[in-house]
Amino acid sequence: MTEHGCGIGHAPIIVVGGGAAGMMAALFAARGGGRTLLLEKNEKLGKKVYITGKGRCNVTNACEDMEDFLREVPRNPRFLHSALRQFGPFDMLALLDELGCPTKVERGRRAYPVSDHASDVTKALEKGLRQAGVTVRLNAPVRRVTADAGRVTGVELMNGEALPARAVIVCTGGVSYPATGSTGDGLRWARETGHTVTPPRPSLVGLRTKETWPMGLQGLTLKNICLTGRSCGKIIYSELGEMLFTHFGVSGPLVIECSCHLPESGQAELSLNLKPGLTREQLDQRLTRDLAAA
Ligand SMILES: Cc1cc2nc3c(=O)[nH]c(=O)nc-3n(C[C@H](O)[C@H](O)[C@H](O)COP(=O)(O)OP(=O)(O)OC[C@H]3O[C@@H](n4cnc5c(N)ncnc54)[C@H](O)[C@@H]3O)c2cc1C
Repeated sequence: MTEHGCGIGHAPIIVVGGGAAGMMAALFAARGGGRTLLLEKNEKLGKKVYITGKGRCNVTNACEDMEDFLREVPRNPRFLHSALRQFGPFDMLALLDELGCPTKVERGRRAYPVSDHASDVTKALEKGLRQAGVTVRLNAPVRRVTADAGRVTGVELMNGEALPARAVIVCTGGVSYPATGSTGDGLRWARETGHTVTPPRPSLVGLRTKETWPMGLQGLTLKNICLTGRSCGKIIYSELGEMLFTHFGVSGPLVIECSCHLPESGQAELSLNLKPGLTREQLDQRLTRDLAAA
């Protein structure tokens, strides 16, 4: 966000992108007293929010201790420190409650709207935007952020319309699920305006396997197993839970969680323990007994 006063002091704060981040940024910019314009290229706000948490939106993790919370963030958790200090998980839940979307906390302290509808999270934020007086323009794709003498002056829409701004907040998302609108525009603008952009890497995803046999098991779910991921012989992940085989390899909760611990190469060796509750000897005895009985 860049502020300056070269004759556009009365121009609004412009927020580009009406996803979760953009709605929150616009809401708080307006609550802070700034005239705020939210520009979204889609026909509606929060298109990605609708598909989160399998349509239920896992809003946050109701974790009381910040250090516990940050321990669950595999990459660069310190980056989140100051933001979370100012607005933590319980502030988020209180905000949603205030805006008419009460939440509940489930296993693993995962918080969801009581209604189990992700759309209610967007509706609540839309209500907040209305109450705070934010002007929302839908179907308004931004072509670029304009700058003069190293300072941001506003944005230009795809139709050529120039919109001056006192400050521009870019909330155009990453590059996952581009069908929801996140096509990496903000990353391009950052590069164009001289910022260094660290190439984004996927996280929380299913994994392709080099071997083809897992694809032959497509649709098979394994429960109560232990999945261990190793990189260069070192264990990077080992947990009990559920996984499944897919047309590209493996997925499901354990694999998705394991994916965010992968090294930069994006490669790891996975091993499965189908009977993690048994020792080798116990398993041997059980198999011998079962085979004898067969
Ligand atoms: C399948 C799935 C499930 C998920 N489940 C969860 C979950 O349960 N809990 C959770 O916390 N997170 C979840 N996430 C992650 C979460 O959805 C994202 O972290 C979050 O939505 C990112 O919000 P954002 O506002 O940064 O970006 P986005 O939601 O991508 O929003 C960016 C917005 O900017 C707009 N935009 C882009 N370019 C322009 C432009 N040039 N002009 C105008 N507008 C533009 C886009 O149309 C879009 O609306 C999930 C993600 C996926 C894909």
